[in-house]
This record gives sequence, C-alpha cells and structure tokens, in this order.
Amino acid sequence: MGAWSEGLREECGVVGVYGRLPAAPRLYLGLNSLQHRGQEGAGIAVSDGEHMRSHKGIGLVNDVLTEPVVASLPGAFGIGHNRYSTTGASARPENVQPIVVDCRHGRLAVAHNGNLTNARELRRRMEEEGSIFQTTSDSEIVLHLIARSRRGSMLERAREALAAVRGACTVLLMSEKEILGYRDPFGFRPLCLGRLPDGYVLASETCALDIMGAELVREIEPGEMVLLDASGVHGVPPSPGEADHPKAQCVFEQIYFSRPDSVVFGESVDRVRRRLGHELAREHPAAADMVIAVPDSSNSAGLGFAEESGIPFELGLIRNHYIGRTFIAPVQNQRDGGVKVKYNPVAAVLRGKRIVVVDDSIVRGTTSRLLVRMLFSAGAREVHFRVSSPPMTGPCFYGIDTPKRSELIASQLSVPEIGEYLGVTSLGYLSLDGLRRAVAAPERFCYACFSGEYPVPVTDEVGRLTLERG
Ligand code: SF4
Repeated sequence: MGAWSEGLREECGVVGVYGRLPAAPRLYLGLNSLQHRGQEGAGIAVSDGEHMRSHKGIGLVNDVLTEPVVASLPGAFGIGHNRYSTTGASARPENVQPIVVDCRHGRLAVAHNGNLTNARELRRRMEEEGSIFQTTSDSEIVLHLIARSRRGSMLERAREALAAVRGACTVLLMSEKEILGYRDPFGFRPLCLGRLPDGYVLASETCALDIMGAELVREIEPGEMVLLDASGVHGVPPSPGEADHPKAQCVFEQIYFSRPDSVVFGESVDRVRRRLGHELAREHPAAADMVIAVPDSSNSAGLGFAEESGIPFELGLIRNHYIGRTFIAPVQNQRDGGVKVKYNPVAAVLRGKRIVVVDDSIVRGTTSRLLVRMLFSAGAREVHFRVSSPPMTGPCFYGIDTPKRSELIASQLSVPEIGEYLGVTSLGYLSLDGLRRAVAAPERFCYACFSGEYPVPVTDEVGRLTLERG
C-alpha cells in the first residue's frame, strides 16, 4: 500500500514479439499482463516487413487496444508499451509510446523503460543543432541519436546511439524489418527473452511470456543487445568493458514493482518477497494473534513473516481491484484520502486481535496513517506495523516516479517519530543488511533510494552534476 497508494509508480512496461502469426493480439496480451507497470497510456507498433503501423492512446490497455483496433493492425512483429508518466506530463498523448518517427533510415519506433540521467544535456545540445522534438519524453532522444548515425546497420546505429545515453535504459527499437532489445550496462530495469512455437518475445517481465504461451529462454544481460529478425534471434553480448561494469538492478522491482508470478533478475519475485518477510520477522518480532498484508504487493512478504514467526496469516484487508484511477482521484482529498475506496477491513477477522500488518514500503506516510486508523476502527486491539523495505529517504532518478525528497516521510522523521505519526502500537522497517541478505547477488543491485548512494550521477541542461529533487 505504501507504494501503490502513495503514488510510487513504475514508469513503463515493454514487450516485443517476432513470429509468424499476427503480432497485435499477442502484444495486447503481453501489455495486459504488464498493466501494473503503467496505467496512463498504452500503444503498439507492428510491421509486416514492409510497412509499420501504430496505435496508441491515453488509458488502460483494454481501453486503448480495442478489438477493432487490434484487428486493424496487420504484421507478424511489433513492439508495445505501457506508460505511467509523471504528473503534468500525463495529459500529453504524444508522450505515449511507442514513439514512431520517419527518418532517412526509414520508419523507426521506440518503447523505453527507464530514465536517461543525461537527457536534458543531450536534448539541449541537439536542439541547439536544429533537432525538433515531438514529445517531452527522454525516449525520443534515442530515436534522434539513431537517426543522426551514419553507421550501416540498425545494430551499429543503435550501438552508437546507446553509447551516448546514461542512466536507466531498457529499450525496444523497431524498424520495418527487425526488432532490437537492449539493457543498459547497469541493468536497472529487467528484460527477458522468451521462445514461441513460431518466434521470439522480449518483455519486461516473464508474466508477459506466460500469457503469450512463450517459454523463458533467459534474461537479457546488462549491456547486451539482441536482434530479432526473419532469421531468428541474434545476441550481441556486452563488450568486455560492459560485462565488468558495475551492476545496479533496481531492488524495488523485487520489493514492489514486479508481479510476484514473474521471474526478475534471475529469481522468482514471490520467493524474494517471502525472504524479505522472513528477515523482517527475525529483525522485528511481535507478540500478535495474526499477520495480515496490505494487498496485493505485500502478500508474499506477509506470508513470509507468518512462516518465520509462526503467527497465522489472515485476510484482514480486501483491495478493490476494479476502481479506476479517474474515480480514485476525486476522493484523494477527502479525509480518508481515498483509502476506503481502495481497501476494506474484514472486521470479523480483526475485532479484538493483536495484528501484525506487513506493507512493502512507506512513502509519504499519509495513507499508511489512514490505514492504521481504519484497522483500529474495525476493532483491532494492537497494530504492529512492519515494512519489508528500509526507510525510503531519497527519490529515484532511474525510471520510478517518486515524490520529492522533502515529501518522503523517512527523510524528515526518525523511525520512532514515524511510528508516532502513524499511531501504531509498534513499527519496524527491514534493515538495508536484511534487504541485501534477501536477494541473490546483492552486489548487483541499486539501493539508492534507501542508502543515498546513487550509482549514476544526474546532469542538468548544461551538464552539471545534480542529485537534488526537492
Ligand atoms: S533509486 Fe530505488 S527505485 Fe530507483 S532504481 Fe534505485 S532502488 Fe530502484
């Protein structure tokens, strides 16, 4: 709930398919399963080998990619994108991806997940040299860089272009003939390769492969490029320098963003979250009658806490899945912050009980506070709040839309002060060490929003280093 209810959003999901059957219905399925990664806009671009067509719009996948639209887009390969954009930019249909442009290399489309940390500097330079941008999205910069390249093949042009960008860049590029997938050398955002009976799939998460009936082949390595074309799949391994490059996979994918039925960064997300719950129970035990989780993203961590502590797991909160964001927005300013629209406590379960409530994170703290009040109002005797991630003290610059630093409660208050603000019986956050213990290969992860150690500096328009965001 911390993350889901308090506006922490993934900024995108990407999917690409190259087969012999129509690509559009498959892209629709893949994007649908990646809906959690972006709910403000969706789109696809498909090609029949000669012509590329696209359709995109503001809204959920179901609203944008209706049956007649999907049926009207022929072609056996294509790419798709789910977008969540930051406030202010959200009403701009031109920012919805894939972004499609015509250039001297033909028609090109891009679907990007991440944030380029040198976007402002690159854009300013290109605008000074005469480039005209259609969008305010930093993803368009990649297209401009490719369009400018004088190299002979799509692969070489993409290699040259992507060498110039910094930060988080998992990207799918498409020409009328081929699809190229790439993960930046830090590997901030995931990308996996799957095999279909008649072709291949690239997707942010394996849940998109499952729904399309594709079998997981492997993750795309940080720094690796893969090309899908009529002759199959061609991997271009990272150069020796890129292979030894430090890695910074987003640990928040494991804590909250990815679906628990996905395998991300080589591990089942559900298994990682269970281990977060185990660590949390060891670090912050509580004498309680039951463990409940804030659904849905905290369910696996809640189950892990119950497994380790031996306290039974109960369904004490029900999340309303079907209320649209448009309808939540008007009630956000009401006294309950819209919490009642999103969750309902099961009073018969909670009444008179000492409860451990497990949540994946606390962002601003406002909705957590309202949730605690709701649990007490439903009759809970004690509320022991447990968070399956460390205190979030800094914003993200690598593809997650976070509030400004000053709005993050843990950047302003100590843990006991937060406990007091929330009105809980007790409060415990997982430690950074506990988080590192719960993931395999902890040295390959980014923890910057918890640790303040940012792996890639951010530059402003004139190339000055900046890491301030409020
Ligand atoms: S700063 Fe936080 S949210 Fe952003 S990439 Fe790093 S771990 Fe993920």
